[in-house]
Amino acid sequence: MTDKELKTEKAEERIFLSSPHMSGGEQKYINEAFEQNWIAPLGPNVNEFEKVVAAYCGVKDVAALSSGTAAIHLALIILGVEAGDEVITSSFTFSGTVNPVAYQGATPVFVDSEEESWNMDPNLLEDAVKERIKLGKKVKAILPVHLYGMPANMEAIQAIANKYGIPVVEDAAEALGSRFNGKPAGSFGKISILSFNGNKILSTSGGGMLLSNDSKIVEQARFLATQARDAAPYYQHSQIGYNYRMSNILAGVGRGQMEVLEERVRQRRVNHFFYREHLEQIEGITFLKEPNDSYFSNFWLTTILIDPEKTGISNKELMEEFEKHNIESRYLWKPMHMQPVFSDSPAYLNGTSERLFKKGLCLPSGSNMTDSDRARVLEILKRTLNKM
Ligand SMILES: *Cc1c(COP(=O)(O)O)cnc(C)c1O
Repeated sequence: MTDKELKTEKAEERIFLSSPHMSGGEQKYINEAFEQNWIAPLGPNVNEFEKVVAAYCGVKDVAALSSGTAAIHLALIILGVEAGDEVITSSFTFSGTVNPVAYQGATPVFVDSEEESWNMDPNLLEDAVKERIKLGKKVKAILPVHLYGMPANMEAIQAIANKYGIPVVEDAAEALGSRFNGKPAGSFGKISILSFNGNKILSTSGGGMLLSNDSKIVEQARFLATQARDAAPYYQHSQIGYNYRMSNILAGVGRGQMEVLEERVRQRRVNHFFYREHLEQIEGITFLKEPNDSYFSNFWLTTILIDPEKTGISNKELMEEFEKHNIESRYLWKPMHMQPVFSDSPAYLNGTSERLFKKGLCLPSGSNMTDSDRARVLEILKRTLNKM
């Protein structure tokens, strides 16, 4: 390529991995908040946003919070997770899943992935539960994750949780709009959580939600999220609280976003099937796909594995090539059992998440991608493969 050609390409707009995608409808609710001076971590937008999400996910009650991480933290507190306890979770996840376990002084126990969904392997989970119990550990929760929007095998996971009487906290941060056996992600846990961070399928810039069919749990979450204030005429506190509630302005953004959720899911799935249509036949490139009819993914991110022996390139080389052309891609989550900060935690492994991490790449997957964006990504990918 000549320098001149390179320059014109450099000038091309950046294609992001997953950028916020406003509908325009958000502004109305933000304006209402300003007009009514509800500039606080409570108000009509918070109440309405909660109602809409509860109805969508088919759960009794939800609490809008400052982040998904805060929601997991409160879930663990409500389930009585304390120092010395254990929480069994997926190794293949984002640190936001696991950090709250450490906040409580508890130990995360990592379970590796199954091939089909890339999520918590139910067989390994049962091995882990049995061994932890045998070792005399107090396993207070099972915390599965629906990574990249792909539901975990909740049927098998819940069967194990029920068998051993351990509550499930469902991390649906990446999976709003996904379903398993026709049931919405966010409705499976004794407590479930969602995130509305900047690059999730819906964004309120930052935010999260705690969901449960047990209204008492949600009531407790609201109480803890607002500094655990007793019912007294003055400020009285009998336990430690948190400042974890969602702002009424951000909840306005959330209301506008919920109005286009189905459209956003559709757009992400268009990306996924576009990539598959054009790349699936290439030897050495494989996709995370819905394993069978039980799974419906929002395809928050479309993810591929690249076999360097068959394609001649590594995930790193492809990522660097994308970057040269102003296209953002990203490694898969580095498994938690490989993280320096969690190196002391017990882990039940089968090699799957390490293999995925080594070979995987997240492709640009924003719901605001245009036909020409997708074509540009494909063109660079194909050109890179042919060069090798
Ligand atoms: C984003 C995310 C979280 C944390 O949500 P925040 O709102 O960013 O705190 C937790 N778990 C997973 C799997 C996530 O992707």
